[in-house]
Amino acid sequence: MMENITEKLFQYFGHRKFKSDLQEQAIRAISRRIHDVFVSMPTGSGKSLCFQLPAMLQDNKVAIVFSPLLALIKDQIDHLTKLKINAESINSKMTTKDRERVLNDLRSMKPNTKFLYVTPEQAATGTFKSLIEHLVKYKKVSYIVVDEAHCVSEWGHDFRPDYIKLGDLREKYKMIPWVALTATASVEVVKDILENLKLLKPVAQYKTPSFRKNLFYDVIYQNVVEDEIGHLYEFLKKSLKEDENVKPKDKNAVIVYCRTRDQTEHLANVLTKRGLKSAAYHGGLKTSERISVQEGWSRGEYPCVCATISFGMGVDKASVRAVAHWGIAQNVAAYYQESGRAGRDGKLAFCRIYYCHSERNAVDFLLKTEIARSRTPEQKQRCKNAYKSFEIMVKYCEDVKCRHRTFATYFGEEPPVCARRCDACADERAARRALEQHLRRASA
Ligand code: ADP
Ligand code: MG
Ligand code: ZN
Repeated sequence: MMENITEKLFQYFGHRKFKSDLQEQAIRAISRRIHDVFVSMPTGSGKSLCFQLPAMLQDNKVAIVFSPLLALIKDQIDHLTKLKINAESINSKMTTKDRERVLNDLRSMKPNTKFLYVTPEQAATGTFKSLIEHLVKYKKVSYIVVDEAHCVSEWGHDFRPDYIKLGDLREKYKMIPWVALTATASVEVVKDILENLKLLKPVAQYKTPSFRKNLFYDVIYQNVVEDEIGHLYEFLKKSLKEDENVKPKDKNAVIVYCRTRDQTEHLANVLTKRGLKSAAYHGGLKTSERISVQEGWSRGEYPCVCATISFGMGVDKASVRAVAHWGIAQNVAAYYQESGRAGRDGKLAFCRIYYCHSERNAVDFLLKTEIARSRTPEQKQRCKNAYKSFEIMVKYCEDVKCRHRTFATYFGEEPPVCARRCDACADERAARRALEQHLRRASA
């Protein structure tokens, strides 16, 4: 079976090869059905295939997939349907007739359904509980899969209490191998996934290392430089360089992340006046305006977008040469993700924070207000977690340590060989001097 796995990859999914070694390793491990498997790879790296291909190798069995949103479920089902693979869902939005059709198939001797997608809320219903009981009894379940598994963690960004109950299923049906997948995996989140889902030890883990050696990270202190917007302008210009000979859509581009709408508009204005064509992007724009900014930027009509963090979902421009944060990022996970939009093409790119205390204090205040306002103990705990994550971000800015090492520690990995890909490693003394100057001026 293992030998022809690449054949099956082509036969069912039309791919000639695996997207990465990690994808192949995860697929092989999941196919062996010996251990529960945890997969952490960035968005777009092909996590679905990690369980979909192994499930296709199990005749007359269905994989039960938990997914947090009906919209995500629909995308997955549409994709599989196009490949002529039977995928279904049971949810509150479907007609009784449709639901009966799906249930009847699943209760038959040889179900046609290969994938059954459900939300964790659905998993709590009587219908689902008796269905899974039946399927397990007749050995019809190939895998139980938890997609977007970070939802099980209060450290994650989309915590869903119903995800936690899935752990009970793990205990109840010991014979079925489980697979949990996510794109965001800090140490705390991974711990919660393994514990809350009660995955059987030892769990086989497949994780993309966080280190990206083409990204140069540094911190600039706004109160240390002469003219901070001018400094930003020079940084962006230098990062963009000349690239006259490429198609517009492949032209180099940059992103400046800001906390507020006003900042995005102010910076976009000033940068444009100084000669760097920039657009502002934030939640206050009409949907059509937002789309037009994102598309204009993607097409290469202007190189720079000054945006709130709502910008980026679905941005797949490979030639982003710089990502600057004006002030500070909310936490290390968010910063890693936002800055990580730089250099997807593998070429050198720059990630910089323009740090200042007023922005730090603004975020500090917001997070503390949220703690004070939280109503339930769980909510309070989540807000406190958010505050702790923010403190690590402050430490990132107010310390001179290898920036890549901070990420690796955060994601529970060995420190990488940075090779001067950050300010602390490239010139520690200069970085320390700037920090000291910043602290002196900030406290003056
Ligand atoms: P993720 O869940 O990690 O964000 P997806 O599973 O949605 O990623 O896959 C992203 C894209 O990669 C999809 O369009 C999928 O068809 C494609 N893909 C997955 N595996 C391969 C492969 N081996 N070869 C080519 N494309 C692949
Ligand atoms: Mg996915
Ligand atoms: Zn370093």
